[in-house]
Amino acid sequence: MRVKVLGSAAGGGFPQWNCHCSNCSGLRHGKLKARPRTQTQIAFSLDSNIWFLLCASPDLRQQVLSTPEFAPPADDSSPWPIGGVFLPNADVDTVMGLLHLREFQSFFVFATHGVQCVLQKESKIFRVLERSDQQVKWQTLSSKGRLGCHFSENSSGPPDFICDTVPLGGSYPDYVSEQMLRALAYDEAAVGFVMQQEGKGFFFAPSLSGTSAMWKSAAETSDVTLIDGTFWSDDELARTGRSKKTAREIGHLPLYGPGGLLEQFPANTKGRKILIHINNTNPILNQESAEHRAVLDAGFEIAYDGMEFNL
Ligand SMILES: [Zn+2]
Repeated sequence: MRVKVLGSAAGGGFPQWNCHCSNCSGLRHGKLKARPRTQTQIAFSLDSNIWFLLCASPDLRQQVLSTPEFAPPADDSSPWPIGGVFLPNADVDTVMGLLHLREFQSFFVFATHGVQCVLQKESKIFRVLERSDQQVKWQTLSSKGRLGCHFSENSSGPPDFICDTVPLGGSYPDYVSEQMLRALAYDEAAVGFVMQQEGKGFFFAPSLSGTSAMWKSAAETSDVTLIDGTFWSDDELARTGRSKKTAREIGHLPLYGPGGLLEQFPANTKGRKILIHINNTNPILNQESAEHRAVLDAGFEIAYDGMEFNL
């Protein structure tokens, strides 16, 4: 299995267009040792021919065009390289890229019933995905279940890969109406994915609210864990003047502090642990900061655009 990190930042990317925090202005003026990052986007493939996307980032068009493996086949009878998209939640940063894929191409979208309801009923703009017959083929994931995925029409043999969904807690996005919220299942708002083939697998959890501990066993058993590194501290947005809300209030367990991810991450895991979905305010982006050093010393890697690994 090949896994590519096409984008590694949280919403807004790094630098964010309207942000003058020390990270964004430092990067803009060449005074910060850090890499620019597009918004979080993962792709994986079993055979380097058919790829599946995790998230559909607002930067997806740019990310697709800069990935040679995603170029359309010269011959229309050959399969398109992007077979489907797995959506962990309905956040704007996670679903906006679907609009870049609206050009009458057929592909699968895998999401919980709750996330599908939000996209199909709450927001008319996503109807552009339904303009032709079988344009988007919706596949429903339970919040805690296992899906065997087959590449061929014949699903009687063993699946080509397995997708386990892990409920992460968290809530539906702010744009969802009160009326719809009352009808949606809470545990379908945000899920993580464990993608496995032949006993090897990676866990992807870009949005960890901290209200559920079910992510821990997936992190313990996966060969690679790509996990929420959005904020260093709970009051980071207030301290950088970006918002009055805390990290936890907007659904992200901070890395540092009591009960933070660094403290809670299961000890003695053998797999790689990689922080992803990193907000532009997060001091770990500065490669010369104490916080950057602290996460490396704790055994974490920090995802960057262009990172790739094989399982
Ligand atoms: Zn910033």
